[in-house]
Amino acid sequence: MERILVKDKYFEKFISVQAIDRVVTKIAGMINNDYKEKNPLFLCILNGSFIFAADLLRKIRFPCQVSFVKYSSYIGTSTKGEIKTVIGLNEDLKDRHVIIVEDIIDTGLTMDHLLKELGNRGSADLRIASFCFKPDAFKMSFTIDYLGLEIPNDFVVGYGLDYDGYGRNLPEIYKLAKKFI
Ligand code: IMP
Repeated sequence: MERILVKDKYFEKFISVQAIDRVVTKIAGMINNDYKEKNPLFLCILNGSFIFAADLLRKIRFPCQVSFVKYSSYIGTSTKGEIKTVIGLNEDLKDRHVIIVEDIIDTGLTMDHLLKELGNRGSADLRIASFCFKPDAFKMSFTIDYLGLEIPNDFVVGYGLDYDGYGRNLPEIYKLAKKFI
Protein backbone atom coordinates (compact mmCIF):
# COMPACT_ATOMS: atom_id res chain seq x y z
CA MET A 1 0.00 0.00 0.00
CA GLU A 2 1.42 3.33 -1.09
CA ARG A 3 1.68 5.73 1.87
CA ILE A 4 2.54 9.38 1.95
CA LEU A 5 3.16 11.85 4.73
CA VAL A 6 0.99 14.97 4.65
CA LYS A 7 2.17 17.40 7.30
CA ASP A 8 2.38 15.01 10.28
CA LYS A 9 0.03 12.18 9.31
CA TYR A 10 0.29 9.18 7.01
CA PHE A 11 -2.26 8.68 4.27
CA GLU A 12 -2.79 5.75 1.94
CA LYS A 13 -3.81 5.78 -1.70
CA PHE A 14 -7.57 5.55 -2.08
CA ILE A 15 -8.80 6.84 -5.46
CA SER A 16 -6.61 6.88 -8.56
CA VAL A 17 -6.30 9.65 -11.15
CA GLN A 18 -8.12 7.42 -13.68
CA ALA A 19 -11.00 6.71 -11.29
CA ILE A 20 -11.30 10.42 -10.49
CA ASP A 21 -11.50 11.22 -14.18
CA ARG A 22 -14.28 8.65 -14.67
CA VAL A 23 -16.27 10.23 -11.83
CA VAL A 24 -15.85 13.75 -13.25
CA THR A 25 -16.86 12.52 -16.73
CA LYS A 26 -19.99 10.94 -15.23
CA ILE A 27 -21.02 14.16 -13.45
CA ALA A 28 -20.27 16.29 -16.53
CA GLY A 29 -22.37 13.93 -18.67
CA MET A 30 -25.39 14.36 -16.40
CA ILE A 31 -25.03 18.15 -16.35
CA ASN A 32 -24.48 18.27 -20.13
CA ASN A 33 -27.81 16.45 -20.54
CA ASP A 34 -29.76 18.66 -18.16
CA TYR A 35 -28.53 22.18 -18.84
CA LYS A 36 -28.38 22.66 -22.61
CA GLU A 37 -29.62 26.16 -23.46
CA LYS A 38 -30.09 27.08 -19.79
CA ASN A 39 -26.97 29.23 -19.57
CA PRO A 40 -26.19 28.06 -16.02
CA LEU A 41 -23.90 29.70 -13.53
CA PHE A 42 -21.45 27.34 -11.82
CA LEU A 43 -20.79 28.61 -8.33
CA CYS A 44 -17.64 26.94 -7.07
CA ILE A 45 -16.91 26.87 -3.37
CA LEU A 46 -13.32 27.75 -2.50
CA ASN A 47 -10.89 26.47 -1.52
CA GLY A 48 -11.59 22.76 -1.82
CA SER A 49 -13.47 22.64 -5.12
CA PHE A 50 -10.87 24.44 -7.25
CA ILE A 51 -9.43 21.33 -8.93
CA PHE A 52 -12.72 19.50 -9.33
CA ALA A 53 -14.28 22.68 -10.75
CA ALA A 54 -11.42 23.11 -13.23
CA ASP A 55 -11.78 19.50 -14.45
CA LEU A 56 -15.58 19.55 -14.51
CA LEU A 57 -15.85 22.85 -16.38
CA ARG A 58 -13.53 21.62 -19.14
CA LYS A 59 -15.99 18.80 -19.81
CA ILE A 60 -19.04 21.09 -20.06
CA ARG A 61 -20.15 21.44 -23.66
CA PHE A 62 -22.48 24.46 -23.67
CA PRO A 63 -22.23 28.17 -22.86
CA CYS A 64 -22.06 28.78 -19.13
CA GLN A 65 -20.56 31.14 -16.58
CA VAL A 66 -18.34 30.34 -13.63
CA SER A 67 -17.87 32.17 -10.38
CA PHE A 68 -16.22 31.49 -7.03
CA VAL A 69 -17.28 32.13 -3.48
CA LYS A 70 -15.48 31.46 -0.26
CA TYR A 71 -16.93 31.04 3.19
CA SER A 72 -15.16 30.61 6.48
CA SER A 73 -15.21 27.07 7.81
CA TYR A 74 -18.23 26.07 9.74
CA ILE A 75 -17.63 27.06 13.34
CA GLY A 76 -19.14 25.19 16.25
CA THR A 77 -20.59 21.78 16.73
CA SER A 78 -24.27 22.52 16.50
CA THR A 79 -26.45 23.71 13.66
CA LYS A 80 -26.49 27.13 15.38
CA GLY A 81 -22.92 27.74 14.17
CA GLU A 82 -22.39 30.53 11.67
CA ILE A 83 -20.41 30.66 8.45
CA LYS A 84 -18.95 33.96 7.35
CA THR A 85 -18.59 35.18 3.76
CA VAL A 86 -14.91 35.64 2.93
CA ILE A 87 -15.22 36.18 -0.84
CA GLY A 88 -18.74 37.15 -1.77
CA LEU A 89 -20.94 36.70 -4.74
CA ASN A 90 -20.72 39.29 -7.54
CA GLU A 91 -23.37 37.81 -9.80
CA ASP A 92 -27.08 38.42 -9.69
CA LEU A 93 -28.73 35.01 -9.24
CA LYS A 94 -32.18 36.22 -10.25
CA ASP A 95 -33.75 33.77 -12.74
CA ARG A 96 -30.41 31.97 -13.15
CA HIS A 97 -29.91 28.23 -13.14
CA VAL A 98 -27.25 27.84 -10.47
CA ILE A 99 -25.09 24.77 -9.88
CA ILE A 100 -23.10 24.82 -6.65
CA VAL A 101 -19.80 22.96 -7.13
CA GLU A 102 -18.37 21.39 -3.97
CA ASP A 103 -15.56 18.91 -3.37
CA ILE A 104 -17.05 16.97 -0.47
CA ILE A 105 -20.17 16.86 1.63
CA ASP A 106 -19.53 15.40 5.05
CA THR A 107 -22.07 16.33 7.75
CA GLY A 108 -23.74 18.62 5.22
CA LEU A 109 -23.82 21.54 7.68
CA THR A 110 -21.77 23.81 5.42
CA MET A 111 -23.92 23.14 2.36
CA ASP A 112 -27.08 23.53 4.40
CA HIS A 113 -25.93 27.05 5.36
CA LEU A 114 -25.04 27.84 1.75
CA LEU A 115 -28.45 26.69 0.53
CA LYS A 116 -30.09 29.03 3.05
CA GLU A 117 -27.74 31.88 2.13
CA LEU A 118 -28.19 31.47 -1.64
CA GLY A 119 -31.74 30.15 -1.67
CA ASN A 120 -33.49 33.50 -1.30
CA ARG A 121 -31.84 35.29 -4.23
CA GLY A 122 -34.49 34.49 -6.82
CA SER A 123 -32.60 31.85 -8.81
CA ALA A 124 -34.62 29.76 -11.28
CA ASP A 125 -33.15 26.73 -9.56
CA LEU A 126 -30.29 25.85 -7.30
CA ARG A 127 -28.65 22.45 -7.61
CA ILE A 128 -25.62 20.81 -6.06
CA ALA A 129 -22.75 18.98 -7.74
CA SER A 130 -20.37 17.34 -5.28
CA PHE A 131 -17.38 15.20 -6.14
CA CYS A 132 -17.84 13.01 -3.07
CA PHE A 133 -20.15 12.42 -0.15
CA LYS A 134 -19.87 10.65 3.21
CA PRO A 135 -23.35 9.18 3.79
CA ASP A 136 -22.43 7.87 7.26
CA ALA A 137 -21.56 11.39 8.45
CA PHE A 138 -24.49 13.19 6.80
CA LYS A 139 -26.87 14.93 9.24
CA MET A 140 -29.00 16.98 6.85
CA SER A 141 -31.78 16.17 4.42
CA PHE A 142 -31.04 18.09 1.20
CA THR A 143 -30.53 16.20 -2.05
CA ILE A 144 -27.20 16.13 -3.87
CA ASP A 145 -28.35 16.45 -7.48
CA TYR A 146 -25.07 15.48 -9.12
CA LEU A 147 -23.03 13.16 -6.94
CA GLY A 148 -19.74 11.61 -7.95
CA LEU A 149 -18.79 9.11 -5.27
CA GLU A 150 -20.04 7.89 -1.93
CA ILE A 151 -17.09 7.28 0.37
CA PRO A 152 -16.74 5.81 3.89
CA ASN A 153 -16.42 8.10 6.88
CA ASP A 154 -12.61 8.41 6.57
CA PHE A 155 -10.64 11.64 6.42
CA VAL A 156 -9.37 12.16 2.86
CA VAL A 157 -6.87 14.50 1.17
CA GLY A 158 -5.83 15.29 -2.38
CA TYR A 159 -7.61 16.53 -5.49
CA GLY A 160 -8.30 19.84 -3.75
CA LEU A 161 -9.05 18.40 -0.32
CA ASP A 162 -6.68 19.36 2.46
CA TYR A 163 -5.39 18.35 5.83
CA ASP A 164 -4.57 21.56 7.67
CA GLY A 165 -3.99 23.35 4.37
CA TYR A 166 -1.73 20.62 2.92
CA GLY A 167 -2.34 17.94 0.33
CA ARG A 168 -4.62 19.86 -2.03
CA ASN A 169 -2.12 19.48 -4.88
CA LEU A 170 -2.06 15.68 -4.82
CA PRO A 171 -3.55 14.34 -8.07
CA GLU A 172 -4.99 11.23 -6.37
CA ILE A 173 -7.19 11.00 -3.29
CA TYR A 174 -5.66 9.49 -0.14
CA LYS A 175 -7.30 8.44 3.11
CA LEU A 176 -5.92 8.63 6.61
CA ALA A 177 -3.91 5.47 7.32
CA LYS A 178 -5.37 3.43 10.17
CA LYS A 179 -1.97 2.55 11.59
CA PHE A 180 1.60 2.83 10.51
CA ILE A 181 5.03 1.71 11.65
P1 IMP B 1 -19.50 19.47 6.24
O1 IMP B 1 -20.04 20.83 6.63
O2 IMP B 1 -19.35 18.59 7.46
O3 IMP B 1 -20.31 18.80 5.15
O4 IMP B 1 -18.04 19.65 5.75
C1 IMP B 1 -17.77 20.32 4.61
C2 IMP B 1 -16.35 20.78 4.56
O5 IMP B 1 -15.48 20.11 5.49
C3 IMP B 1 -15.80 20.43 3.20
O6 IMP B 1 -16.09 21.45 2.28
C4 IMP B 1 -14.34 20.27 3.47
O7 IMP B 1 -13.71 21.52 3.42
C5 IMP B 1 -14.27 19.75 4.89
N1 IMP B 1 -14.10 18.28 4.94
C6 IMP B 1 -15.02 17.37 5.31
N2 IMP B 1 -14.52 16.14 5.24
C7 IMP B 1 -13.25 16.26 4.80
C8 IMP B 1 -12.21 15.31 4.50
O8 IMP B 1 -12.33 14.07 4.63
N3 IMP B 1 -11.04 15.83 4.05
C9 IMP B 1 -10.83 17.17 3.88
N4 IMP B 1 -11.78 18.09 4.15
C10 IMP B 1 -12.98 17.63 4.61
